[in-house]
Amino acid sequence: MAYFTMAKDTLANLFRKPATRMYPSVVREIFPATRGHIAMDITTCIFCGICQKKCPTGAIKVDRANKTWEIERLACIACASCSDACPKQSLSMENTYTGPVTILEKPKTREEVSGA
Ligand code: SF4
Ligand code: SF4
Repeated sequence: MAYFTMAKDTLANLFRKPATRMYPSVVREIFPATRGHIAMDITTCIFCGICQKKCPTGAIKVDRANKTWEIERLACIACASCSDACPKQSLSMENTYTGPVTILEKPKTREEVSGA
């Protein structure tokens, strides 16, 4: 009896659409209610550290002396506390597709971004 059930499932799955997508070549549509991810404009940041203090998960690290701003994406819960508190609107919630990365890049300083 189990063979019949298995054969039935096997045959049905031969003609069904796959249950998974070919990530990342097939881009998943964005749900309107999702908050997305934090986007950062380093050129307007004053490195005040408010976002770091507001972050409930400790995902943000601001180094005022070296003018660097880092976020640990896997620690971020997309609560938007940092973007709400930023006095320069340097942070925002971006609801767009984020492609995969293969290289772990160090955060850029403002000078590196502006080319100065
Ligand atoms: S709160 Fe805004 S201006 Fe201050 S460090 Fe964070 S991103 Fe920069
Ligand atoms: S969205 Fe929330 S969890 Fe993510 S970095 Fe900002 S304050 Fe931290």
